[in-house]
Amino acid sequence: MARMTHHRIQNTGATTPEALALEGLVTSDEAKNLKRVAHRYAISAPRHLVDLIDKAAENDPIALQIVPSLQELVTTDDESVDPIGDHTHSPVRGLVHRYPDRVLLKVHNACAMYCRFCFRREMVGPGGDIMTDADTTEALGYIRSNKKIWEVILTGGDPMMLSARRISTLLDSLDCIEHVKVVRFHTRLPVAAPERVTQDLVAALSNRRATVYVAVHSNHAREFSADTLAACRKFTDLGIPLVGQTVLLKGINDNADTLAELFRTMVEARIMPYYLHHPDLAPGTGHFRVPIETGQELMKQLRGRISGLAIPTYILDIPGGYGKVPVGPSYISGSEDGGLEIQDINGQAHIYQTQKNSAL
Ligand SMILES: *Cc1c(COP(=O)(O)O)cnc(C)c1O
Ligand code: SF4
Repeated sequence: MARMTHHRIQNTGATTPEALALEGLVTSDEAKNLKRVAHRYAISAPRHLVDLIDKAAENDPIALQIVPSLQELVTTDDESVDPIGDHTHSPVRGLVHRYPDRVLLKVHNACAMYCRFCFRREMVGPGGDIMTDADTTEALGYIRSNKKIWEVILTGGDPMMLSARRISTLLDSLDCIEHVKVVRFHTRLPVAAPERVTQDLVAALSNRRATVYVAVHSNHAREFSADTLAACRKFTDLGIPLVGQTVLLKGINDNADTLAELFRTMVEARIMPYYLHHPDLAPGTGHFRVPIETGQELMKQLRGRISGLAIPTYILDIPGGYGKVPVGPSYISGSEDGGLEIQDINGQAHIYQTQKNSAL
């Protein structure tokens, strides 16, 4: 009886260590210790995801992503509060302009879930950076006066936490800037809280002058519940293309079977896997990091084994704000007499004669 009452109260999920204990996700002793983590980093384990967790399992991949751990208090020397150098490329508050043809707009600081490995963990959540109406006006002015800006990427936090009305207003403004041809949302909402992906919200994105893309963040096939699949379908039914972005995470998806299942699930749901991110050097996330060599090896195992449609690019955002680059694996190396040595998917080397095959 008590449990039922509590479930009615906690219907939205858990945002404190105490609430996580009530959900049976941590013990009450653990909850006491986790107050130190809660003091530093936002917590949100939304109802939808809490209900997907297998509480009997030791290392449930969903629990590992949303239940805080004391390991988050451990920071290493190479970690940074601004791991990918957003601040060094921010001409206007909330806007990051690192590449000539596209800008990031951090339109909202809240998320439905707070991922324990979040690379913007110092900025998201209550008390984080928030764009005021004046900031938005200034950012729009910046975009308007920079004709090279072809794409605007809405991020945060989670831009889809804004109301359908506010999203609509923002997209109206961007639609008025002729040179902006593409608007991309980066969101975790279909995974974190699919019930918030309403028809109104999706409709606000459709029938726009600028082409709208949605990048859905997901790290494990278990995140694709029937509700999440239905939420994704709302976008594709209205002709809004979806791409997937995934973070490589130790103990969650750092094996070829798990990644293969995730990327296939995405393709089946009409989501093109776009990036597999090597984890950024965000504070207190060392327990999630794997070496780049591990990521390269995993990508090698996927190539040839699953459809090319299901293989994203493995990406590193170079610490310090130098941008994103693919980090392999590489199948090509130089060899003598002008040829190139190419490795096939079984690791066997072949010489490709560049001279013979070129038009010269
Ligand atoms: C990641 C990022 C982008 C988008 O990069 P793509 O390779 O186009 O996905 C754009 N601007 C900034 C500042 C970024 O960090
Ligand atoms: S949804 Fe994205 S921005 Fe929000 S906590 Fe997770 S990784 Fe960070």
